[in-house]
Amino acid sequence: MDVDIVCVGFGPAMGGFLTTLSRRLLKPDGTPLVESAVMPGMPPQVVCYERADDLGFGVSGAVTRARGLRAAFPELDPAQIPMAAPISAEKLVYLLDPLGASRRSWTLRAADRLIRGLNWALPFEADALELPWIPRFLHKSGGLVLSLGQLMQWVGAQVQSAGTVQIWPGTPVGEALIEGNRVAGVRLLDQGTDPQCRPSEGFLPGLDVHAALTVIGDGPVGPIGQQLDERFGMPPGHHQRDWALGMKLVVDLPEGADLKPGTVLHTFGYPEPEIFGFFYAHPGRVASVGIFVPSWFDSPVRTAYRYLQHWMLHPYLWRYLKGGRLRSWGAKTVGESGRRGEPYLAGDGYARIGEGSGSTNALAGSGLDEAWTTGVQLAEAVIELLQARQPFTKANLEATYLKRRRASWVQQEGRVAEKSRDGFQRGVVTGLIGMALAGLTKGAISLGRDPVPPYRRLPTLEQYYRGRIPAEDIKKLRQECAAKAIPLHDALMERCGWPAIPYDGQLLVSHQDALLLGGKVQAPPGYADHVLFLYRELCAWCGTKICIEACSGQAITPGPKGVPQFDRDKCIHCGACFWNCSQPLPDNPERMNIAFRAGPGGLHSAEN
Ligand SMILES: Cc1cc2nc3c(=O)[nH]c(=O)nc-3n(C[C@H](O)[C@H](O)[C@H](O)COP(=O)(O)OP(=O)(O)OC[C@H]3O[C@@H](n4cnc5c(N)ncnc54)[C@H](O)[C@@H]3O)c2cc1C
Ligand code: SF4
Ligand code: SF4
Repeated sequence: MDVDIVCVGFGPAMGGFLTTLSRRLLKPDGTPLVESAVMPGMPPQVVCYERADDLGFGVSGAVTRARGLRAAFPELDPAQIPMAAPISAEKLVYLLDPLGASRRSWTLRAADRLIRGLNWALPFEADALELPWIPRFLHKSGGLVLSLGQLMQWVGAQVQSAGTVQIWPGTPVGEALIEGNRVAGVRLLDQGTDPQCRPSEGFLPGLDVHAALTVIGDGPVGPIGQQLDERFGMPPGHHQRDWALGMKLVVDLPEGADLKPGTVLHTFGYPEPEIFGFFYAHPGRVASVGIFVPSWFDSPVRTAYRYLQHWMLHPYLWRYLKGGRLRSWGAKTVGESGRRGEPYLAGDGYARIGEGSGSTNALAGSGLDEAWTTGVQLAEAVIELLQARQPFTKANLEATYLKRRRASWVQQEGRVAEKSRDGFQRGVVTGLIGMALAGLTKGAISLGRDPVPPYRRLPTLEQYYRGRIPAEDIKKLRQECAAKAIPLHDALMERCGWPAIPYDGQLLVSHQDALLLGGKVQAPPGYADHVLFLYRELCAWCGTKICIEACSGQAITPGPKGVPQFDRDKCIHCGACFWNCSQPLPDNPERMNIAFRAGPGGLHSAEN
C-alpha cells in the first residue's frame, strides 16, 4: 500500500502532530493544500497505526502546564474533556516512614527525627511535612489535571472529525522498512502466528505501507524507535539510562473526601526514599494516584505494585483513600534521559517526535506537553515542505523540524533539566539538592555523575540485604518462591518489616485482581510473543532475576532451568522488564538481555 505519510503510535506527540496537520491539509474552500503523490487530486494521504486495541489506552498521571495543548485549542474548556480540571491547589509533601521498614540513610533518619521533634512548629500532619513552597521549575500552576486516556480519546475524535487523517487502533507496526539510509515506510505485524512467530492457522503476513515520510512517536519503549537506534546509532555521548516505571490507579474517592477537583499532591520519601508519588483529584470525586520507581533506585526488589499499596496506606494519603474503590489500574515506563537520550531526530524519509525522541523533562516531571509540542513542530515543518514541494530528506527535515525544535522552550527547558538528576547516582539527599540547584541556577550547576546502566549499578540481593537478611535465608526464600513460581519480593519485604497488605477487595486488591478488575488485560490470539529472553544462558546465570520482581503484570515468573517464562495474556506492555534487565548484551552493553517487540493487546482502559 502507498500513502504519503505513515505514523507510528497515537500518544500525545502524535496527537499534536495530527491535530496540527489535519487542519491544514485542505484549504478553506475544501480543495487540497497540495496534491497527494499517491492519489492524484486528493490531499496527502495520512495514516496512523496504534498498537493498543483502542485509542486512549495509554497510561499517564497527568498534570500538565498544557502550554502546547492550549496553543492548539485556544478556546479549550476543560469541561469538554472527561476527568479534566484546572489545577486548584498544589502541594509538595515529604512522607516520613510510619512503619520503620523503609531503607533510609542515616542522614534521612536524622532529618526525620528532627522533623518529628519540631512537628509543633512545622506544617506537619499525618506523618508528613507539607513543604511551604514549590520551586518554580516544578509547579504546574495555571495547568490542567487530566486522564491521558480521556484526553487521547477526545483528541482522536477532533482529529478524525477533520476527515483528512485515518487512525487505526489495534494495528501494531512490526518494523520500519529501511532502504539504505532511508526509511521508506513500515511493515505491519504478521498475524496468525504462534508465540514463537512461526506461521500458523490463518497466517497473514504484515502489510507493507510505503510512504514519503514515516513519523515515529512510539513512546519510551517503542520497537520502531529501537530499530532505528540500532540501525543508525545514537549521537555521540547520548544514551537512555534514565527512566522510571510509573504505576497508577484511578480511584472513586469515598464520600466525604474533601479534595477540590484540580488538587495536586506531589510526594517523596516513602515507601522508599527514592520513590516519588502523585495524587491528582479529578471532578466527580475521582482521583489518579500513583508512584514512580526510578532507574537509580538501587534495589533488586523493584515491585511497583507492592510499593504502590504501601504508599496508599501512608496515613497522609490513606485519610483520603480509605473506603475508596478501584476504577482502573495501569503502568508504563517513562523515558527520563531527556536531551541526553535524544536519538537522531530526523533522517531521509523519517522524523521522531515525543518521549522516544528525548522530549520528556525529568526536572519538571513533565512529558505530555513536551511530546505534544514536538508533534506540532514537526507538523508545521511538514506543511512548510509540502507547500515548497520539497522532499522529506534529512537536510530538509533538519532545516525545518529541528530548527523549530532547537529554538523552542522544549529545547531550552530540556537543557536546564539535562543533568538535574545526576545527583541521584550518589544518593537521595544529593539527588534532591542537585535537582534544586539545577532548577534554581537554570542548569548551570548540577551534582553527581553521568548515569550508569543497570548492570553496573544493581547490587545482588545478598549485598542489598546485608545486615538485614542473612544470605542463607535469602537462598531459602528464593528456593521456596521458585518452587511456587512466584516472585521473591513479598517474602523479602515482609522479612524486613513491611506488613502484609490488608486486602479489602475494593481498593486494596491482589496483583492478579488488579489485572482483571483495574486493567482488564487482554491479548488477542495469533500473535508472536513480544517479550523475548535473548540469551537463555544469561538468564540461567543471572542472580537478580529482576525481570520477575519488576514485572508490572506478573507476566514474567520463575521458569525451568533458571530461565523466566513469559505469559502474554498478563502483559500490560509497560516496558519495565526491558529497562530493568540486569544483564548487558555481549555485543551492545547499552542494551539488555530482553527484547521488547511490537504486539497488540494489554490494558483495556481509557481512564488511566
Ligand atoms: C504513570 C505515569 C504518570 C505520568 N504523569 C505525567 C504527568 O503528570 N505529567 C506529564 O506531563 N507527563 C506524565 N507522564 C509522562 C507522559 O505520559 C509521557 O511523557 C507522554 O505520554 C509521552 O507521549 P508520547 O506520545 O511521546 O508517547 P506515549 O504516550 O508513550 O505514546 C506512544 C504510543 O505509541 C504506541 N505504540 C508503541 N509501539 C507501537 C507500534 N509498534 N505500533 C503502533 N503503535 C505503537 C503506544 O501504544 C502509545 O499509544 C506520566 C507517565 C506515566 C507512565
Ligand atoms: S531477562 Fe534479564 S533480569 Fe531476567 S533473568 Fe534474564 S538476564 Fe536476568
Ligand atoms: S512482561 Fe509486560 S507487564 Fe511485565 S514488565 Fe514486561 S512489559 Fe511490563
